[in-house]
Amino acid sequence: MNCEVCQRELAAHDLPDQPARRQAAVEAHLAQCPECRHELAVLRRTAALLASQPLDEPPAGLWQGVEARLAQPTPWRLPRWTYAGAAALVAVLAVAVWPPAEEFRATPYLRDHYRVSLGGPLGDAATGDVLAALAEETQ
Ligand SMILES: [Zn+2]
Repeated sequence: MNCEVCQRELAAHDLPDQPARRQAAVEAHLAQCPECRHELAVLRRTAALLASQPLDEPPAGLWQGVEARLAQPTPWRLPRWTYAGAAALVAVLAVAVWPPAEEFRATPYLRDHYRVSLGGPLGDAATGDVLAALAEETQ
């Protein structure tokens, strides 16, 4: 057994009814590994600290409230496919209503903005080509 396997087994090491063969393998590794013995000691201290803390009682009527809410009918909701259908309808309408590309004109403002930003980090050649093509169409 290596340290990784041993440390995975340590959480269950002190629990009752663990397989004797596994316990023996862990014990054999612990006998020769100070790192895993330290890990077991840390786990035991943590478990002791947790056991020393009082458990808070849940508020009275907590479970009855949960049961009552579970018994209520589910609120009305649209089926999921309706959202996808609505998105598809919006996309179709956008394409149908959107002006054709030949009606789009690059405004002088856009061209100037592109020229200014070309040397900057956001400038890209593809945008410039599109704007130049659109500018040629307008002339
Ligand atoms: Zn080890």
